[in-house]
Amino acid sequence: MNFDIVYKKRVEIGDINKLKTQLSEIVGTEWASTEEADLVAYSKDYQLITNRWIMEGTLPGLPHIIVWPENELQISQILKIANEQKIPVVPYGEGSGVVGAAIPVYGGIMVDMKRMTKIIEINKQNLTITVQSGANGKWLERELEKKGFLIGHVPQSFHTSTVGGWIAHRAAGQFSTKYGKIEDIVLSMRVVLPTGEIVDTKLYPRASDGPQIEKLFLSSEGTLGIVTQATIKMWPLPKKQEGVAYAFKNIEDSLKATQLVMQKQVYPAVIRIYDQNETERHFYAEPKAKNRVMVIFVCEAPIESLVDLEISEIRKSCIECNGTDCGVGPVKHWFETRFNVKESSIYIPKGQIADTIEISVMWDTAVECYHSVIAELKKIDGLILASGHASHFYPNGVCFYFTFSGVVQDGKTPEDFYVSAWDAAMIGTLKAKGSISHHHGIGISRARWMRDEHGPVLTLMKRIKSTLDPNNIMNPGKLYDEPERE
Ligand SMILES: Cc1cc2nc3c(=O)[nH]c(=O)nc-3n(C[C@H](O)[C@H](O)[C@H](O)COP(=O)(O)OP(=O)(O)OC[C@H]3O[C@@H](n4cnc5c(N)ncnc54)[C@H](O)[C@@H]3O)c2cc1C
Repeated sequence: MNFDIVYKKRVEIGDINKLKTQLSEIVGTEWASTEEADLVAYSKDYQLITNRWIMEGTLPGLPHIIVWPENELQISQILKIANEQKIPVVPYGEGSGVVGAAIPVYGGIMVDMKRMTKIIEINKQNLTITVQSGANGKWLERELEKKGFLIGHVPQSFHTSTVGGWIAHRAAGQFSTKYGKIEDIVLSMRVVLPTGEIVDTKLYPRASDGPQIEKLFLSSEGTLGIVTQATIKMWPLPKKQEGVAYAFKNIEDSLKATQLVMQKQVYPAVIRIYDQNETERHFYAEPKAKNRVMVIFVCEAPIESLVDLEISEIRKSCIECNGTDCGVGPVKHWFETRFNVKESSIYIPKGQIADTIEISVMWDTAVECYHSVIAELKKIDGLILASGHASHFYPNGVCFYFTFSGVVQDGKTPEDFYVSAWDAAMIGTLKAKGSISHHHGIGISRARWMRDEHGPVLTLMKRIKSTLDPNNIMNPGKLYDEPERE
């Protein structure tokens, strides 16, 4: 069957049967596939616009072959072949990335990591777990809980994402304010480089021994190698967990309250601020939240009095900023619904074009940034919804997470609307000195803003890429290509 492919960059592979034989010799015949159904299944990730394309009968990209390696040595052999023959390779976790990073725009070999899920070691003294990178998040949590530990990293895509995927786009979980983002959690890793060499970074709590090579692979989106294993932190299960919710008159007061909390060095596991629009959408049952900005906090610790102290300090900060106590109802509601993805289930079936965009900004321009992005989004013809919440907090700044949806206007395509909305959010963010992505990554959605984000540093990144991957086989078309912008 001939497919209509959106990204028309698919390379020619001289002899696909020969390649299949070579790869089958490495992974076994049943673990290498050129079946049409498999190729189609790996043509996308969770970038929302691509779901629309697929419903309309087009594919974002199309790989030539899928392989499911069982170990690192097999990956090394696969990459050596790919490097010799200059064939693109795309690592694949569970395809829950939302910016198109795993879409094989040049085709080539998809390396699915799902067979590499072994726990190598749980070290109770060091509080670390060493695990293969194909391990699924929820599965890992269950395994650790059985032994009395928690993982601390809980992205909303917990049930459908892998350790390797978290590392590859520098993920942030719902409990990140206490336990850290993935870069705080990962202590060491093993990576197969594009040339097939295997790198194993040393495990230490901290060191002063030269540039930290493992950091290079965080947010590399599969462009510098394949992460095969990582040693990450784990934590004792908390003895107490408590939540509070406060409603504020406006986003300014809510941000001030959370800034006060963070700068007092109180680190709740969860903080979420929902603007008026999102408060109405998520907390319509809470009478005190009408036309207000809802903020929820969750504190947890192995020491009960620590939780009590944090909660009392949070209350003081909220009262100082004129917050209204809403009890625990909104916190319970958050726990019940925290894995629901309303954007794709409400707006897209109605024919609207919707997506979510997260960015980060320092405190001194945080309020300006929120308003700047909403204002830019509202300029777009056909826009129905522009709303935001803040989901990750630091003593120095905050992450905003915007949702947009709208309908295509006459003479325009869905892609026109989609691109305008993304561009609006990027423009609004950059105007307020924010960073264009907090945790979803660059992929395809943000690629055309990389130069604005990094300036000359992008050139340095390109130099590192060409040193590690001289034949540009690893996930080509991502991070370093600079697509034209209108
Ligand atoms: C409903 C939903 C909620 C989400 N919530 C969050 C959230 O709370 N926090 C958050 O940070 N993100 C979130 N995401 C986005 C996030 O990108 C993915 O969920 C996830 O972390 C990607 O993991 P994955 O294993 O599915 O990777 P994939 O989507 O398969 O791949 C993502 C990128 O990583 C590369 N990659 C994958 N595995 C490896 C490897 N072993 N070595 C090298 N490169 C690799 C791929 O080539 C690709 O570039 C959410 C996504 C969805 C759909």
